[in-house]
Amino acid sequence: MDNKTVGSCLCGSITFEVSGPFESFFLCHCSRCRKDTGSAYAANLFSTTATITWRSGQDLVRTFQLPSTRHQRSFCSSCGSAVPSLQLGGALLVVPAGSLDSAVDIRPNAHICFASRATWDRQIEDISKIDELPG
Ligand SMILES: [Zn+2]
Ligand SMILES: [Zn+2]
Repeated sequence: MDNKTVGSCLCGSITFEVSGPFESFFLCHCSRCRKDTGSAYAANLFSTTATITWRSGQDLVRTFQLPSTRHQRSFCSSCGSAVPSLQLGGALLVVPAGSLDSAVDIRPNAHICFASRATWDRQIEDISKIDELPG
């Protein structure tokens, strides 16, 4: 089976390819992930064995490490999109699920730091679903 997964940032300057399987997929609702995504949670795929190859724009990748924590985020310096980062001294590849352009064969394992979720993030599965933009 071909385990290649491709992705890119919003402006298209950064493109990458991930080879190898993901071991876990978590939706993290902690306050740091809410800040750095601007959203309800960060959806990240994790792998200790996959490798990343930057196809373009590697010079635009910037990494922010929150001082005194293990919270790290890589992003495109042109458009700000989240892009993959190597963490724990390169031992762990963290790939933002929203940066991917190809399908992955893994479903999220869990919502994590769920007790820290935003006050408005309650029963959101009950909210109406609109297939396009609201009219
Ligand atoms: Zn970009
Ligand atoms: Zn988090």
